[in-house]
Amino acid sequence: MSSDFVVIGAGIAGASIAGQLAAHGKVTLLETEKNPGFHATGRSAAYYAPSYGNDVVRGITVASEAFFREPKSRFSTAQLLKPRPSIFVADKDQTNSFKAFMDENPNLKRLDSKDLRLQVPLLKPGILVQGAMDTVGGDLDVDAILQGFLRQFLEFGGVLHVNAKVQGLIYQDGFWQIDTDAGHFSAPIIVNAAGAWADQLAELAGLKGLGLQALKRTAILVDGVDNIANWPLVVDVDETFYFKPDAGQLLLSPADESPSAPCDAFAEEITIAITVDRIQKVLDIEVRKVNHSWAGLRTFSPDKTFIVGFDPRCEGFFWLAGQGGYGVQTCPALADIAAHQITGSHNIVSSEEVEKYNTAMQPERFL
Ligand SMILES: Cc1cc2nc3c(=O)[nH]c(=O)nc-3n(C[C@H](O)[C@H](O)[C@H](O)COP(=O)(O)OP(=O)(O)OC[C@H]3O[C@@H](n4cnc5c(N)ncnc54)[C@H](O)[C@@H]3O)c2cc1C
Repeated sequence: MSSDFVVIGAGIAGASIAGQLAAHGKVTLLETEKNPGFHATGRSAAYYAPSYGNDVVRGITVASEAFFREPKSRFSTAQLLKPRPSIFVADKDQTNSFKAFMDENPNLKRLDSKDLRLQVPLLKPGILVQGAMDTVGGDLDVDAILQGFLRQFLEFGGVLHVNAKVQGLIYQDGFWQIDTDAGHFSAPIIVNAAGAWADQLAELAGLKGLGLQALKRTAILVDGVDNIANWPLVVDVDETFYFKPDAGQLLLSPADESPSAPCDAFAEEITIAITVDRIQKVLDIEVRKVNHSWAGLRTFSPDKTFIVGFDPRCEGFFWLAGQGGYGVQTCPALADIAAHQITGSHNIVSSEEVEKYNTAMQPERFL
């Protein structure tokens, strides 16, 4: 089973690059699990936040916006990005953090405590004293985005193999020989889109990992809070909690970042209790029952910028990893920049954007 490109990992990173590459050659997409998107991608908070992350992350997020706002009908008929503002909030002890945040995002609208309570009437008085509103953010339809890329990939003749964990990688005579649970594959170029497992995958190929770290994040859903449909996403400026409406329920997270080995992450009771406690400190609600809880791994490179590029230590080994907490909101532009490095063509970002971000994302910065 020979192809031009083999993409390993069918989360949002693997699906988006597979969708792009399929226009340029025969692509095979390999996934350990039974369903694409089973790990981080299927567990995200599904939010598009252009003021989140470092300057490269913010730039690539903004470069993805038009793709989400005006999807081509062949890609998806769903509304991929539904407007919902975000508000970054601070209490009286967070003046320095808030100032640093505003220095990075000077165009956001400042809110005082009265404005904050107009946006979220259930905020307890006197706790949160200032905020900054970003009106450009919104809810992403993660499943429609994932399915859109997979459809594009399949329409161009791509082949997806699930239950196909890659177990061995050897480079021989210009081809990667790839052993999986579903058989043997080969291609001159492989794309490492294995999320939390990306360093382990490199090690299978005999390459030392690049220092990726998976951090576990928990979320819960609660109901019984009325009139929340138009609430913004509310994020503590030091990222110790966030909450937002989610299909009639309230999604709450303690924004935890516990280092974890790659695994099928789950929400721990203690973290669920911490979540409820943090949110009840700022919101006048009483959480009696948690309807659903989950956790996923957000995987970061040492400088929290994506890793996108060919590994200089061997032929044909391409990294698309370190998506951190921004992998969904950046996927169209990031895959386009990656595809440009592999095929020389791009169709979502501008040439200036490719130029601007390529260097900052190369794997050799960690070698
Ligand atoms: C709670 C939470 C909230 C989040 N909120 C947001 C948000 O609001 N907005 C946003 O943009 N991002 C958010 N994120 C981050 C986002 O989900 C990730 O950045 C993104 O999903 C990463 O995609 P990925 O494809 O790199 O990883 P994954 O989705 O984990 O996919 C990697 C895939 O590789 C497969 N794989 C691994 N090893 C092998 C192997 N050897 N062989 C074959 N397959 C393999 C895995 O099975 C997996 O399916 C959030 C994450 C979490 C956990």
